Amino acid sequence: MIYLSRKMIFSAAHSYSISEWSEEKNRLVFGPCSHLNGHGHDYTLEVMVKGRLDSNSGIVVNITDIQKIMNELVEKELDGKFLNKENAYFKEHIPTTENLVTYIWNELEYQFSNCDLHKITLRENDFLYSEKESLPMVHLTRKYHFSTAHRLHSDLLSEEENIEIFGKCNNPYGHGHNYYLEVTVSGKPDPITGMVTDLGQLDKIVENNVLKKFDHKHLNLDTDEFKHLNPTSENVAVVIWDLLKGDLDQLYKIGLYETEKNYFEYYGTDRE
Ligand SMILES: [Zn+2]
Ligand SMILES: [Zn+2]
Repeated sequence: MIYLSRKMIFSAAHSYSISEWSEEKNRLVFGPCSHLNGHGHDYTLEVMVKGRLDSNSGIVVNITDIQKIMNELVEKELDGKFLNKENAYFKEHIPTTENLVTYIWNELEYQFSNCDLHKITLRENDFLYSEKESLPMVHLTRKYHFSTAHRLHSDLLSEEENIEIFGKCNNPYGHGHNYYLEVTVSGKPDPITGMVTDLGQLDKIVENNVLKKFDHKHLNLDTDEFKHLNPTSENVAVVIWDLLKGDLDQLYKIGLYETEKNYFEYYGTDRE
């Protein structure tokens, strides 16, 4: 099986509001997204299909055919539109990223020949994206940033071993990074709000449980978690999982960029 994907960008406006609710309740649940005149995004849509390689042509499917099918839907129903006002489905449903990715999946699922739809990723901006595969679950990922110092040093190794493994990262005073943390939750979009999770609530939990502890701190010196635990990004990812899981049932994955070049992923003990 080979997997291939095609990306495209479209722009659309939307607003999140349930007409049966008061303006106050809409603002409480949807925050600034409830503003009725709307706001908009440049969405990046990535459609991944899977199929068998044809040994004669050397391709699975002509990727321009994938692009055509995407274009038809996007140009007719999404690009340049105010979704709540101009798209029949979103006149009735809240156009959250989770609902949008599900809508696009349902529209495209059976349109491909010689391959099957595998995964759709929809990025609303650099800090929020949704992914859907054939399961009813949708993954929603929110990205956060923190800057922190650390010293890579294990109490369980000798001075020489620490220097040998960690090199200049073992510098006694420490050094630092711009970390980017991706928190992925998983679930079925709520039939009324269209959300997998309350984003405001998610932000609060990450802020209180993780960012306040680590941002602009020295992990080894300022945090209880890393007083005796080597703050490698592997350990930081596991610690962040543990700090969030108790307050976040739907937590699915921690993605941690230590630098632009170094990335770490953790799915909890269930997948070990
Ligand atoms: Zn929006
Ligand atoms: Zn480092």
